[in-house]
Amino acid sequence: MSGWQRVLRGMLDILYPPPPLCALCERPLRHFLQGRGAVEEPSLLCVACEKQFAFIAGEICHVCGRPWIGESCGDCLRRKERDFLFSRSAVRYNDKMKELLARYKYRGDRKLAEVMAFFLQQAWRLHYAEMKVDCLTYIPLHEARLFERTFNQAEEMACLLGKRVGVPVYGMLERRKATEKQSKKDRAGRLHALENVFSYAPCGKYDLPERPVIVLVDDVYTTGTTVAEAGRAIRTGISGAQIYGLTVAR
Ligand SMILES: [Zn+2]
Ligand SMILES: [Zn+2]
Repeated sequence: MSGWQRVLRGMLDILYPPPPLCALCERPLRHFLQGRGAVEEPSLLCVACEKQFAFIAGEICHVCGRPWIGESCGDCLRRKERDFLFSRSAVRYNDKMKELLARYKYRGDRKLAEVMAFFLQQAWRLHYAEMKVDCLTYIPLHEARLFERTFNQAEEMACLLGKRVGVPVYGMLERRKATEKQSKKDRAGRLHALENVFSYAPCGKYDLPERPVIVLVDDVYTTGTTVAEAGRAIRTGISGAQIYGLTVAR
């Protein structure tokens, strides 16, 4: 494009703004979907892309947030103690979601961060919008992993969500040891590997009330051990903290 053509293009774009593009397939978003929950908000995804994700709505386990009829699911009934009040997730961890998270986490496709924050916001609207949440925090990566991946996806998602919902994000945790991929282990192995893995390590002095309400952000809720262990570590530093979980997938 020549200089003049660019100027003309720019003027036309102001007069007739081009439709926004789907964050995944980049086709123009012809019509916006209505957001789930009280406030309507334009979707970042086209109808075809949205359909590939299974949003969690309706009856859920009161503790872990998986689709469930009745009070709490078998896993949650079995758990004796837990250091969080409940956890909620936006979508099911189906093949499409697995693919998307892998693209974001392991292949570093950073533009997906906004899509993740958008998903988180859907769950936020359903479960946290009416609560007085004092801050968000996130599950930390071990230094070695951070070096490999160059960014912590949970921190990035928490920061983007914080901006969307107007809640501050505080770093509070440190990961003592690098854990192997959770999915490769059985349930008992997972529980053991995460024991005492986190320690309370605030990044500064936070202005928090007594018994603050803290929402922990992560990508996937599998057994609930991560949020429980992280919650326990936070509660050693901030006694009486009320910990909740929020993940993209469940
Ligand atoms: Zn699309
Ligand atoms: Zn449950």
